[in-house]
Amino acid sequence: MPGIIKFKTIELTSTFLDPRQKFEQTAEKFQVRFNPLTGRTGHFSHFGAIKPQKLDLQRYNDPEIKGFCPFCDDLKEKLTPKFVKEVIPQGRLSQGEALLVPNLYPYDIYSAVDIMTNDHVVPLECFNDKRLFDSFSVGINFLKTVKAHDPSLPYHIMTWNYMPPSGGGLVHPHQQYFATANPGNQFTDEYKAAEQFYWQYKTDFWSELIKVEKKIDERYIGQIGSSHWLTSFVSLGVLGEIMCVFPKIFCIDDFLDSDTNELIQGLHNVFRYFIKNDIFSFNASLFFGPKGQNFFPAHFRIVPRTFLNIRDFAPDLNFFQALLQEPVSVVIPEELCKAIKELF
Ligand SMILES: [Zn+2]
Repeated sequence: MPGIIKFKTIELTSTFLDPRQKFEQTAEKFQVRFNPLTGRTGHFSHFGAIKPQKLDLQRYNDPEIKGFCPFCDDLKEKLTPKFVKEVIPQGRLSQGEALLVPNLYPYDIYSAVDIMTNDHVVPLECFNDKRLFDSFSVGINFLKTVKAHDPSLPYHIMTWNYMPPSGGGLVHPHQQYFATANPGNQFTDEYKAAEQFYWQYKTDFWSELIKVEKKIDERYIGQIGSSHWLTSFVSLGVLGEIMCVFPKIFCIDDFLDSDTNELIQGLHNVFRYFIKNDIFSFNASLFFGPKGQNFFPAHFRIVPRTFLNIRDFAPDLNFFQALLQEPVSVVIPEELCKAIKELF
């Protein structure tokens, strides 16, 4: 079915007299792109103007900066909550270093924090296979347990804020896992649009997207097992967005250890790109749709985050995201794809 996914870009130019060039007339290009599924727009401008800032992560271990951490040492045993026995009979879930506990500040009825490591500061290169596998496994198991306990909450989500530029309140590595009927505007818009796409074209958008992106070969990074990695046509992050689609997985119950391993393998490649490019912080999420549908497969997204500078720690989000609900990116997805592909 050729052409059912449309990649629409508007290229525009702003002209002004440039003080950097003796007030000669100059033209700056920018783009507005339309998400091929939802139609939501994203701006691409200010190309190359935002550079990831190097963070000295070990400083977060200094006592005056570290302050109090409830996830360190034996404090996590004493200070983190336990689940009621109807949900998790043993109170908490653990595997290797990973310890999953209820979120003291829950996002939904079943809301967990997964303390990933014993170490307070974990640079990207120290997330080895075992640490990542134990963390994801314990979280996925929690979501499966919750789904069995209360099937009325249809959506299952993992989120991960890594390091302070991401908005993460604690440096100590942790992920959030929750089941919900209200998964947020982005998820809801994509879910509704994917359902409509399915009924209109009798195929699911994401499988079609993989086929098309593979053929175009501008944003398709590569395949690991049954997972497919690509850069998004419209980036949610200022420094771009990388996505992984699991086209055969439609609900949390379908996600097996082999899928976790594929996710980790791809993530290592992404981390290698981050390390090479001084990226020390990110937001990530893994989404699962409800059981019984076959138009919204599981997908993972990761966006780099940075302070604009480390003089006054300006965040990389501004009025665009906060008030216009419009993503802005300074990185062209096709260039990001090329750079990551070398490391895959
Ligand atoms: Zn800690």
